[in-house]
Amino acid sequence: MMKSEPAPLPAGWHFDNSYARLSETFHFRVNPTPVAEPRLVVFNRPLAQFLGLDPAAFTGPDAAACFTGNQIFPGAEPIAQAYAGHQFGNLTRLGDGRAILLGEHRTPAGQRFDIQLKGAGPTPYSRRGDGRAAIGPMLREHLISEAMHALGIPTTRSLAVASTGEPVFREQPLPGAVLTRVAASHIRVGTFEYFAALGDTDALRVLADHTVRRHFPDRVESENPVLGLLEEVIERQSSLIAHWMRVGFVHGVMNTDNMALSGETIDYGPCAFIDAYDPAAVFSSIDHNGRYAFGQQPRIAAWNLARFAEALLPILHSETDTALAQANAALDSFSGRFQRHWLATLRAKFGLFTAEPEDAALAEDLLRWMHETRADYTHTFRNLKPNTHSEDAGFTAWQQRWTERLARQPQPWPEVSQLMNAHNPAVIPRNHVVEAALAAATTANDLVPLESLLVALATPYDESGKPTELLNPPPLGTPVCRTFCGT
Ligand code: AMP
Ligand code: MG
Repeated sequence: MMKSEPAPLPAGWHFDNSYARLSETFHFRVNPTPVAEPRLVVFNRPLAQFLGLDPAAFTGPDAAACFTGNQIFPGAEPIAQAYAGHQFGNLTRLGDGRAILLGEHRTPAGQRFDIQLKGAGPTPYSRRGDGRAAIGPMLREHLISEAMHALGIPTTRSLAVASTGEPVFREQPLPGAVLTRVAASHIRVGTFEYFAALGDTDALRVLADHTVRRHFPDRVESENPVLGLLEEVIERQSSLIAHWMRVGFVHGVMNTDNMALSGETIDYGPCAFIDAYDPAAVFSSIDHNGRYAFGQQPRIAAWNLARFAEALLPILHSETDTALAQANAALDSFSGRFQRHWLATLRAKFGLFTAEPEDAALAEDLLRWMHETRADYTHTFRNLKPNTHSEDAGFTAWQQRWTERLARQPQPWPEVSQLMNAHNPAVIPRNHVVEAALAAATTANDLVPLESLLVALATPYDESGKPTELLNPPPLGTPVCRTFCGT
């Protein structure tokens, strides 16, 4: 009789590694460093299915081995990508110091996704780092990126988190883990800055061509595809930042290496969602000057895009003056683009189908009231109703204006309410709840709170069955967690 074999692990993988086919200027070939004791901690079944993978193939020890890099998926060609980045304003050469790109998976529908192991061991770009990641921050990235996806916000995703059975040494020893990140690509503003800083115009051309083909195929045949690339990236970032502001998301470390040209949110380090509305909210323990505060994000995005435009200058146009004029015109469009997205977002949050010139002022006045009273951003928007009683005279006056504004559009309340509920989440990953779930997972080996949180955050616009601690603002006196960058 034939011995029954465990399901082999093609599992539906279909790698086609276009970035690995670029020349050595762009990457180093490097394999993940095997770990002592791979164990699958979370696995994202819906994402596996979306990718055309067979979830049943990811149950045994082979899966844990693959999700830590002990085994390599068939067809993968592991590389560490070269990039630079302005970190808090200063340009540095970086590269994948602890992430290894396994390759690009093609889904049955023809979409292409990077499959990357984060925390997979040292690479030639590791500098003094160990190439590793601790389980807490990897579970945090898994949770928040999946929450962002469910909120309808472009983001990288997480297919799995697997523990390594090895400690990583930070302020104290912590259990190590690897996250499998799925992204439209990992090409960043900083990828272009790397080659611009080297003065490698040929590499810039190759990279621009690759990026346009991959993310903006409609622009390939256009008169100036590089200008097209710049304009498309500006448009996607202006839309992305409006999305972040819609749900109160603070990225926390918007360095140019953490700005993906695909327009996806990437690199969940010291990120968090605001509870009380405060444009100055900062959660990163190293952001002393509030460079990446909640309300600074549009400005910082524009600053990063200026660095992108600078990197593109040598390939934008053969005449320097023309290149500069084109870059400046594109950059000047950011503010208008962002304002358009933001105003449209605010109108939806306030249930407005029509446009009136005073809408921005109406919105700003409620935001100012929220700031002054430290009102909870999510809770206030989700619970806005005309004609509800409030003790607060300022709020009542505002509510009266809003009610009159609603009366000047034809849509009845049920339609208004539906629009609002589709743009104002009922639940977000509130910091105190996230920290509690991560503490249970990492210190008590109890994954139940994390798993129920993942379920609750998968349908963020629906309050039914959601725990009250997620629906309500944190109890008074809950300390605001600050997240360390050294994740
Ligand atoms: P991040 O703050 O995660 O965006 O990382 C910034 C840079 O530091 C990237 O080039 C990372 O690859 C690198 N890096 C972060 N942590 C480590 C680590 N533990 N070992 C090696 N490189 C790291
Ligand atoms: Mg990064």
